[in-house]
Amino acid sequence: MEEKIINIPFMEYNSWDELPQDYRELLYSAAKACKSSYAPYSNFNVGAAVRMGNGEIVTGSNQENAASPSGLCAERVALFAAHHMYPEEKVVAIAIVGSQKGIVTGEFTYPCAACVQVMVESEKRSGSPMAIIVGSATKVRAIGSVNGLLPFSFSNIPAE
Ligand SMILES: [Zn+2]
Repeated sequence: MEEKIINIPFMEYNSWDELPQDYRELLYSAAKACKSSYAPYSNFNVGAAVRMGNGEIVTGSNQENAASPSGLCAERVALFAAHHMYPEEKVVAIAIVGSQKGIVTGEFTYPCAACVQVMVESEKRSGSPMAIIVGSATKVRAIGSVNGLLPFSFSNIPAE
């Protein structure tokens, strides 16, 4: 028996301004997407922005429903739309921002486990790492690959 440890490297930026230009643009797109959120039950507005290999940005926001399981998180709204719009393009990065009453939250809004599972498959489809950029009102964290959030992921993608 042997204990093994997983290290998850990530970058932490002390402000949005400190981000590289492409990450900053994506994060602002995610923040803007919060405005189209439909969240009358949680009052928690989430925006996500996906950067494709061709440079395009596809955004999404959380869409709730009275029958709560019928709603969908911002990340999956954005990712599914991105794959629908650009089925041949890889996903380079996704940025996520949470807000309440129009103000970005002080806490990081990480993707839920269901969204991470979808990100795992997006990353595998893309064949290259997808960066995850999570913003709070002040700091930003960037994880280089979905593998950092879910190192032991379920996968049933048939081998080619
Ligand atoms: Zn989610």
